[in-house]
Amino acid sequence: MSLKINDDCTSCDACVSACPNDAISAGDVIYVIAADRCTECVGAEDSPQCQLVCPADAIVAGASESRDTLMARYHSLHG
Ligand code: SF4
Ligand code: SF4
Repeated sequence: MSLKINDDCTSCDACVSACPNDAISAGDVIYVIAADRCTECVGAEDSPQCQLVCPADAIVAGASESRDTLMARYHSLHG
């Protein structure tokens, strides 16, 4: 699944550099994850790196997607 950021986000910026897909950026109020760039870290890491570093536990499950879909997205992003 792609992950999403909820209202508990404090805009601390910690997750941005943790993402292997450059999927996270500052939004108008809270930070946001681009669903078309998030692979749940499939292809790069064993677990979602953004969730590991978020001090507010503000990053939660989003739309459910298959591992094949996530891996295909990773390869399309990284060539
Ligand atoms: S789960 Fe991984 S790919 Fe998705 S936003 Fe978090 S760090 Fe980036
Ligand atoms: S690490 Fe968590 S609190 Fe900090 S910007 Fe990212 S989602 Fe928001």
